[in-house]
Amino acid sequence: MTNKIFSQYPSQMDISFSENCNLACKYCFVKKTNSAILDLPSVQKAVDIFFSFPPKKKTITFTTCEPFLDQELFKQSITYILRKSKNRDFQLQIVATTNGTLLNDKTITFLNKYLNDKFILNIGLDGAKKSNDAYRIFKTDHTKSVFADSWKNFKKLPRQKVRVISTITPSEVSSLGENTKFFLKNGFENIDFFPQIFTFWSKDNLKKLSAELTYIIECFNDKTTYNGELRLLNRLWGRSDYRSILFSGDRKFYLFEWVLPLPHKAREEYIIGDIDTGLNLKKRKSIFLKLFSEFSKKSNQCMQCDINDFCSYPLPLYLWSQYYKKDFNKYFDNFCNVARTMVNLSKKIKSQDKTDREKWTHAKKTNK
Ligand code: SF4
Ligand code: SF4
Repeated sequence: MTNKIFSQYPSQMDISFSENCNLACKYCFVKKTNSAILDLPSVQKAVDIFFSFPPKKKTITFTTCEPFLDQELFKQSITYILRKSKNRDFQLQIVATTNGTLLNDKTITFLNKYLNDKFILNIGLDGAKKSNDAYRIFKTDHTKSVFADSWKNFKKLPRQKVRVISTITPSEVSSLGENTKFFLKNGFENIDFFPQIFTFWSKDNLKKLSAELTYIIECFNDKTTYNGELRLLNRLWGRSDYRSILFSGDRKFYLFEWVLPLPHKAREEYIIGDIDTGLNLKKRKSIFLKLFSEFSKKSNQCMQCDINDFCSYPLPLYLWSQYYKKDFNKYFDNFCNVARTMVNLSKKIKSQDKTDREKWTHAKKTNK
């Protein structure tokens, strides 16, 4: 099973310029204990190493922490990546995620120019002001509205070229339908839902989640009204963990981005290379297989699960629970309940061919 899903060469590199952020969202999973910051030559070298691997489809993400703290570094990195990937024998996708509060007009102009199908911007937004500001707060001033600062910038971005990343929390779950309507009304129709996982969902909240998602799916299935894309599952971890690596502010490569909830020191055993020595593929494989084997012993029900193709295995939850000495079984059951709710409802999203996972879980609308 493991060998079937593990890819020998990484096809995704998550770049974390640093672990700094101007926000302190209550659900942020990044431990923020590493003060190192990348510079352009290091990013360039990591990109060169990553491009030397054989996969024909590659993804580079800037999705961990806020990549627009240094907007010049971000723009120069993108420009370099675009230049170095030109006329190569692979397809590249770039994905960046921002909280939006820092975007200046020059950067917005840059994004308007370069965003396209191959370069996607994710915007972190949990709904209208009340829901968004319930969890997303500024690091230095908790009274100031994050929504007010981010929304004024998000409105200047090309709506079809950005994707809303919306974290669903148990306490705000009843507003989910209304928040989604708010996105749709404002022209943001590409939406990823990301349920909060390092927390507990009561039976009552799971019921609410189910009811709200049913309502949202009905809205999306009305294809005369919307032309966007609704993704209920892709942000549940899993599928990319087996093919991705993390390039961190300390110029080292790590197994995957899910080492970030651990303190910096505890991440050492997941280091799989650096920009001077390159990536140690053997080490990457052996660390991954060891972790997966430990996880499988704790949760062999995932191996037999009829929907593991859609949910995948909560390996990061295992890593997190081991380090923080949490009751893995309890958190696993909780995760599994949320995952089953989302997977089962995904089946209700209309699509042309329900046997195709992408179409099954991603309700791409083609009729205007
Ligand atoms: S914006 Fe992202 S990185 Fe920053 S605190 Fe919030 S969740 Fe964490
Ligand atoms: S639904 Fe539950 S058992 Fe199935 S793969 Fe997901 S976590 Fe594992």
